[in-house]
Amino acid sequence: MVPQASAATFPERHVDSYYAASANPGPERPRLSGEVDADVCVIGGGFTGISSALHLAERGLRVVVLEATRIGFGASGRNGGQIVNSYSRDMDVIEAKYGQSTAQALGSMAFEGNKIIRSRIADYDIRCDLKEGNLFAACSDKQMQGLVEHKALWERYGHRQLELLDARGYRREIGSERYVGALFDHSGGHLHPLNLVLGEAAAFESLGGVIYEHSPVIEIRHGDPVVIRSAQGQVRAERVIVAGNAYLNGLLPELEGKSMPCGTQVLATAPLDADTARELLPNDACVEDCNYLLDYYRLSADNRLIYGGGVTYGGHDPASIEAVIRPNLEKTFPQLKGVKVDYTWSGNFLLTLNRLPQFGRINHNVYYAQGYSGHGVTCTHLAGRLMAEALSGELERFDAFANLPHTPFPGGRLFRVPLTALGAWYYRMRDQLGW
Ligand SMILES: Cc1cc2nc3c(=O)[nH]c(=O)nc-3n(C[C@H](O)[C@H](O)[C@H](O)COP(=O)(O)OP(=O)(O)OC[C@H]3O[C@@H](n4cnc5c(N)ncnc54)[C@H](O)[C@@H]3O)c2cc1C
Repeated sequence: MVPQASAATFPERHVDSYYAASANPGPERPRLSGEVDADVCVIGGGFTGISSALHLAERGLRVVVLEATRIGFGASGRNGGQIVNSYSRDMDVIEAKYGQSTAQALGSMAFEGNKIIRSRIADYDIRCDLKEGNLFAACSDKQMQGLVEHKALWERYGHRQLELLDARGYRREIGSERYVGALFDHSGGHLHPLNLVLGEAAAFESLGGVIYEHSPVIEIRHGDPVVIRSAQGQVRAERVIVAGNAYLNGLLPELEGKSMPCGTQVLATAPLDADTARELLPNDACVEDCNYLLDYYRLSADNRLIYGGGVTYGGHDPASIEAVIRPNLEKTFPQLKGVKVDYTWSGNFLLTLNRLPQFGRINHNVYYAQGYSGHGVTCTHLAGRLMAEALSGELERFDAFANLPHTPFPGGRLFRVPLTALGAWYYRMRDQLGW
């Protein structure tokens, strides 16, 4: 029996977020109907799928993207918008667990996704409110020591645009008393993520690429060609890229078990007056703290504070997103007590046990990349380039990721959620106690 994903699990429109409300206008694409042939069929219209599709179209391939809902419906259209370099697991752990040659290979690519995003924006003139700078803020002396080591580590891999800020220095960047210091990555930044992926989708179409929206794939029939079926049509493709990440929902059983969807929640305040906005973030950089369950925030183009945090394992929404996020926001910025909130939303990212992304192939012609474990804005863009290389026969860099071992979460499908939540509780306690 071939497992089938349910089309009913996908709504017709974006979630009701600040990003959806401020999205650049664009076309609504048709549903797939009838039969279509392609060199490559991409399943999923987020950063992974669209970045791959755009790289492949630039190489002259006939590419069709099937998106279940709308382009950017998943994490790519809802995230914190923070351009954070490297991976969710850093190179010291990669060195210790997987050896020097793997660390060298991954380290040499760790800052590439950021550059790809910037060249996409420049080359295709994408309007997505790009702003510069990202800060990692330390809540304890132990976290600050971690940032000192982090800087030394990234510098060993050639990334030198980093500045340590002490307790006085960080206040030039963040109007909060909550931290002991910070690490400023001057090459980081932030943007409107939905408008980035919409712009990249338009760039892909300008090169002849074809996108179908409202077309959830319900079956992948392996073979040569691969047949990818939606409710009303099918694509026959030589190669397939599976880019559904946390929203894939069992479509490819081979990808189940070694990853877990997790929800994280975001709110956007009403626009702040210019003085208040500058008091919070004087130079308009974005911030994430160093806690295991981290807070992340930034200002939008119209001076809303976009503040995210909270994690639900298994990807279910809490009863009230505002009740989860507001206490942390007001702890960071007591001057915003009672601030009006205009939007709340949540989205799912895909966690792997080692927090490194899962790349790979099934048979010789179905490729996948997923599981960025919460930091995917840059790595999805790297994934797109590596997909295009792999499909053109240049496998070395793709395989550096594909060869990483991944293991299932303890507890299997039934107990992985409570066991991971228990582990997270332990780490949260450590953060609160400053251990
Ligand atoms: C709230 C939130 C905040 C985040 N903040 C940050 C941040 O600030 N910085 C950072 O680096 N990372 C952040 N992340 C992580 C980052 O957003 C993700 O790693 C990244 O967007 C994943 O992109 P993707 O294309 O792989 O998946 P997604 O963007 O989730 O795209 C998957 C797409 O596949 C489609 N799909 C699924 N199944 C099917 C099917 N059967 N048929 C057709 N289409 C299908 C879905 O509809 C969806 O559009 C955040 C994530 C969340 C949820």
